[in-house]
Amino acid sequence: MGFKFGDIEIDTDYSSSETSLASSSSDEEKKMAKKASKGKDHKYRPDKVDAYESIIGQPTYRKKGDDRKKTRFLPPPDEPTDTEYKPLPKDIPKDVGRLDGKSVRDALLKYVQSQSCWRTGAAESMELSDLKLNSAIVYRCEMFVEERKVKWKSTGYKKGDSIDPPKAGSAPMPWELEMKPSNQWKEDKLKKEVPHTCSVRKCWYCKGKGKVRCRECKGKEFFACDHCSGSGEQEGPEGPQPCGICSGSGQRACGRCHGHGNYKCKTCDGHKKLKWYVQNHTKWETHSEDKIHEETALPDHLVSEVKGQEVYCDENAVLVPLSDFPEEHIQKFSKELLPAMIAKYKKDGRILAMRHKVLVTPVTEVSWKFDGHGGKFFVYGLDRKVYFPDYPQQCCCSLL
Ligand SMILES: [Zn+2]
Ligand SMILES: [Zn+2]
Ligand SMILES: [Zn+2]
Repeated sequence: MGFKFGDIEIDTDYSSSETSLASSSSDEEKKMAKKASKGKDHKYRPDKVDAYESIIGQPTYRKKGDDRKKTRFLPPPDEPTDTEYKPLPKDIPKDVGRLDGKSVRDALLKYVQSQSCWRTGAAESMELSDLKLNSAIVYRCEMFVEERKVKWKSTGYKKGDSIDPPKAGSAPMPWELEMKPSNQWKEDKLKKEVPHTCSVRKCWYCKGKGKVRCRECKGKEFFACDHCSGSGEQEGPEGPQPCGICSGSGQRACGRCHGHGNYKCKTCDGHKKLKWYVQNHTKWETHSEDKIHEETALPDHLVSEVKGQEVYCDENAVLVPLSDFPEEHIQKFSKELLPAMIAKYKKDGRILAMRHKVLVTPVTEVSWKFDGHGGKFFVYGLDRKVYFPDYPQQCCCSLL
């Protein structure tokens, strides 16, 4: 059995049982094993894809997560690139997002109203004083990373389906295959058949039968009728009469296989053969990390979640740390974070783009007094979020 691929004639007959996982316990399986051992099947053994089989093994069924690490491929080393950084700002603006008392009160009211069950009375009448603007400085580093994996994939094969076998050319390695993200910095995934890796083999699950024995009835097709316990009769007013459920047969067809004793193999979709090929899985992801300089009691991580004013941004294939930035913290952050992220994401894939930026985020510290209590709360970010963990009227049933 065979078909044409360009000028090459390819055998599509069954391979030996090398892709089968099942134990050969039944008589039929023993017969097949005997047949294979006589060498009859060997001339039909499909082409090997040496370049891939040496790394991910032969095309066989694998359980999910079996060999994730094994199938992940590291990219070739990067070409050296010259990098120059964008001109740096002369200084960091210190007055970004300064608020007056009214804006603070408005932000506070909006915040309290957004909390279920909090009462606004305190926010409306509490005494606010000592507004202090502290600018938080955020150094944000982002990497757009591509990762590639390869896996054996199989689908049901029917005569006439096109295949691209190893004989047609050498299979490109994972990083030689052209795979492009839809957009730079956009999360994306792509799967592609690797050219020249395809072969046709007997379905390992049904062993080339196209159907599998029903597990429910074990191939018996019928069960005894529940109504008449298999007798086919039931008691009537004038003595026994045929069972009304099974019409006297005493049997009911197996519900799973509808009385056929077997059903279509799902692995090969009943086609008896499988087309095996290497599939390339490529994904693109953006990874972002912040380092924050913030001097108040506001938890630092909150600053990452709000808007700040961008005072510097640079993007390139490769970046170098900002060693001359007019702010010592940024120099330190950049020297720590940028090389650490490069090392981290190079381990898994290829960094296609890097971006780092400096943001100034206003944090206004406010003193409050209400009904003999008092303390401090914060309005932070250009979007004026509020951090007020000890707000005095946090429950509508509170007596305060
Ligand atoms: Zn019956
Ligand atoms: Zn059945
Ligand atoms: Zn099958």
